[in-house]
Amino acid sequence: MLSILNLNIKNKILLIRSDFNVPIDLNGNIISDIRIRLSLPTIKYALKKGSKIIIASHLGRPSEGKYNSLFSLKKIAIYLEKILNHKVILQKNYLNGCEFKNNEIILLENVRFNIGEKDNSIKLSKQYASLCDIFVMDAFATSHRIHSSTYGVINFAKKSCAGFLLINEIKNLKKLLKNPVKPIISIIGGAKISTKFNVLKKISKLSDKVIVGGGIANTLLSLNNDIGSSLYEPNAILLAQEIINKYKNIILPVDCVVSTSIKNNSLVKIKNINNILKNEKILDIGHKTINIIKNELKKAKTILWNGPIGVFEFKNFRKGTENIVKAIINSNAFSIVGGGDTLAAIELFNAFNKISYISTGGGAFLKYIEGRKLPVISILENIL
Ligand code: AMP
Repeated sequence: MLSILNLNIKNKILLIRSDFNVPIDLNGNIISDIRIRLSLPTIKYALKKGSKIIIASHLGRPSEGKYNSLFSLKKIAIYLEKILNHKVILQKNYLNGCEFKNNEIILLENVRFNIGEKDNSIKLSKQYASLCDIFVMDAFATSHRIHSSTYGVINFAKKSCAGFLLINEIKNLKKLLKNPVKPIISIIGGAKISTKFNVLKKISKLSDKVIVGGGIANTLLSLNNDIGSSLYEPNAILLAQEIINKYKNIILPVDCVVSTSIKNNSLVKIKNINNILKNEKILDIGHKTINIIKNELKKAKTILWNGPIGVFEFKNFRKGTENIVKAIINSNAFSIVGGGDTLAAIELFNAFNKISYISTGGGAFLKYIEGRKLPVISILENIL
């Protein structure tokens, strides 16, 4: 891929497509700024080289064609200005052109307010392209989407290239898939097996051991156990059976934390997996499973993790996920972690600087690991 490093960007107008789609709480506070922080190297490099900088991003899933302050990038503009220590102006109307007054960075308002963004409209793609001399794609987490601001614009921009975040993601994910140091221990958690079925298959082939947790483990456990009222996917039973029949390296929980409700003060019990009552929900793994996982992770030379293995948002159900974070921190293995909730867990347990590689991608991360071509990467790879 053509890198921003290969182009002369001095005095050029750059349109950088970043992914500032970060979690924001009801009071408007940014809960995790990982994606913003990892986008900074490209922006800082462009500043240093004397480019004029326009940045585009989406935030959440607003309806197209309507401004909605809930999805405005206002808070991102304020935050960016603070961490860059550089003037950032949020521009609402920009499709017919942007004007720089001084040396400010222009942040375009949420691209998903624009009609045609998600349909990869040609008109909109051309409008984005006409804003800049060079389009810099740096939004790895959105590179599986054929949208106007990620894909279409590349067809019409005078020149396009990849930014540092995107190049770094591909480099590290390639390293994992092509030349992994064994043994590889993977951890796959989260809510639904159906959304991660293909990646679970791919990872089971790639890894020496696969630890499963969350709703995914529940669905696998439901084949041979009564899992009470736990979250599982009855429609994915055949998929679960296929996984269990085919892959013998999957480690299932042997004990778990159960409760009849999901609250911070829920009454909890630790139970063996074969002893769950009808009204109980499995909400985390138990001590015995934690010890099994810790021992496995000690042997790892590469650790891949996606998806929390309990309802870690609640204090009572986060021990499993917390212990996984600690085991990764204490390991000398090359660790690679991706996915929105997984990154939130990394932040919660202050492990950001202790993971070898943090991917900003959720869907894009999983699709890349599955071995699928990401459309934006493919189109960038064909640019000379
Ligand atoms: P995903 O987006 O598929 O990675 O799912 C992440 C979500 O799965 C988080 O919000 C967790 O709270 C949830 N989760 C993890 N374990 C469980 C469980 N045992 N029961 C219900 N939800 C869970």
